[in-house]
Amino acid sequence: MYDVKQNLRQVLGDLPEGVRLVAISKYHPNEYIMAAYEEGQRIFGESHEQELRQKVESLPRDIEWHFIGHLQTNKVKYIAPYISMIEAVDSLKLLKEIDKQAARNNRVIKVLLELHIAEEETKYGLTLDACRQLLEGGEWRSLQHVQICGLMMMASYVEDTAQIRHEMTLAADFFDEVKAKYFSDAATFCERSWGMSHDYHIATQCRSTMVRVGTTIFGPRVY
Ligand SMILES: *Cc1c(COP(=O)(O)O)cnc(C)c1O
Repeated sequence: MYDVKQNLRQVLGDLPEGVRLVAISKYHPNEYIMAAYEEGQRIFGESHEQELRQKVESLPRDIEWHFIGHLQTNKVKYIAPYISMIEAVDSLKLLKEIDKQAARNNRVIKVLLELHIAEEETKYGLTLDACRQLLEGGEWRSLQHVQICGLMMMASYVEDTAQIRHEMTLAADFFDEVKAKYFSDAATFCERSWGMSHDYHIATQCRSTMVRVGTTIFGPRVY
């Protein structure tokens, strides 16, 4: 097995004070997750509902699961009972469905709004303007069972570190804009989730509060 414990210690050692690690365990077996768990890691991220469900049923109860993938509205009900944070909310429709399912489970679900800043073509994430519109619309204010805790993004997958830095800086500046305008009195709006295996060192210099690292800890994924 990949030396999960040592890799985990190394990544944790790289993180400045106050930056948390979400260990991205998608496609990795339970024994890898347990190795990280034994080292004290408690936050894990998954991107597929069924895989997540199987892991939740067979792993320790005190793990905090983050859903980091694209979430279809019809899947929300399956994860609503236990999910700790849904990181990639990219529409009002999804936000409302999370609110509805959270209410059914008598809980409040933490979410992040996913930004689409990278140049790459992807269907997912809100452009900065779409995110402004969503917040300006105000409907989210009436949702009692979701707590918007911050922003999430993925930088372009490129070698050019200047470009990665530029995109993450845009996201950090946008966080300040949104914080001042809509969440100035909400201490809970405080998370900036960016940084993956290849760019988490840059992310922590660009005010990330949460990095999502998989491959560096668990090795390459076997699909
Ligand atoms: C898979 C994934 C990661 C982790 O990627 P690594 O390159 O393995 O560190 C982070 N964020 C999201 C949204 C992912 O889907």
